[in-house]
Amino acid sequence: MTLAEPAVIRFAPSPSGYLHLGHAYSALFSWAQAQKLNGRFLLRIEDIDTTRCRKSFEEAIYTDLKWLGLKWEEPVRIQSRHMDDYKGALQRLDDKNLIYPCFCTRKEIQAEILRSGKAPHGPEGHIYPGICRNLSSAQSEEKITLGQSYALRLKMDKAIDLTGPLTWQDLAVGTIEATPERFGDVVLARKDINTSYHLSVTIDDALQNVNCVTRGKDLFEATHIHRLLQALLELPVPTWHHHDLICDEKGNRLAKRHNALAIRELRERGHSPQEVAAMAGI
Ligand code: GLU
Repeated sequence: MTLAEPAVIRFAPSPSGYLHLGHAYSALFSWAQAQKLNGRFLLRIEDIDTTRCRKSFEEAIYTDLKWLGLKWEEPVRIQSRHMDDYKGALQRLDDKNLIYPCFCTRKEIQAEILRSGKAPHGPEGHIYPGICRNLSSAQSEEKITLGQSYALRLKMDKAIDLTGPLTWQDLAVGTIEATPERFGDVVLARKDINTSYHLSVTIDDALQNVNCVTRGKDLFEATHIHRLLQALLELPVPTWHHHDLICDEKGNRLAKRHNALAIRELRERGHSPQEVAAMAGI
């Protein structure tokens, strides 16, 4: 498998906590790939979830990554400043009649799943049972006029009919057949933030010409959705490299709550950047 030249590689953390050893591994992995390929290295701040992200965590990301020895191109793309790009993409999907408003609360979805006795599971949990899929535009308009908040969901079957079968390349695994249908009518714009991780990451990687998406295996499944969105929005298709995840001594994946393994904590305890890189296994 060969990569497009020059390689454009990014690290895209969310400022919802302090970076830990798992992030150090991911950042250093991406950085090393860029160095090896003589490519460009970008940093992107994924802060669309305003309920969880904080400016102080963003500042800490810069401090920690600089301390680890990383250098990235400026300006850094900060997702929350680009909501119009995501809105534009949603509009393009709407023009193709591929999305619909969903007014359901979690409770209503649960109740419908119980009522129907059908509970198929996808990679992100229960598949949406389609309650709002058949609302007429007059019914949807009325709810919107009444001020009901809504998410936007993808009409998955229609989307797949339009694109036909898709594949993607992972440098660690090879060719993968995309199976986004397992997700059902996935949310592309959340009620509270008007976009979603899936949409924003796909749009940004395209806008920033990222041609090798390096990230942890925890996001492997999400790539099925991203590949579909690229086809629907006629975006270039990168190569992916989903890397292994760092686990604690009990075999659990590191999370932001593991503060003892936060990079800043390790720095304050007197560890050097080289020691932290070695702890992360790089
Ligand atoms: N912002 C995501 C996270 O911190 C990573 C997104 C990506 O690399 O695609 O988990």
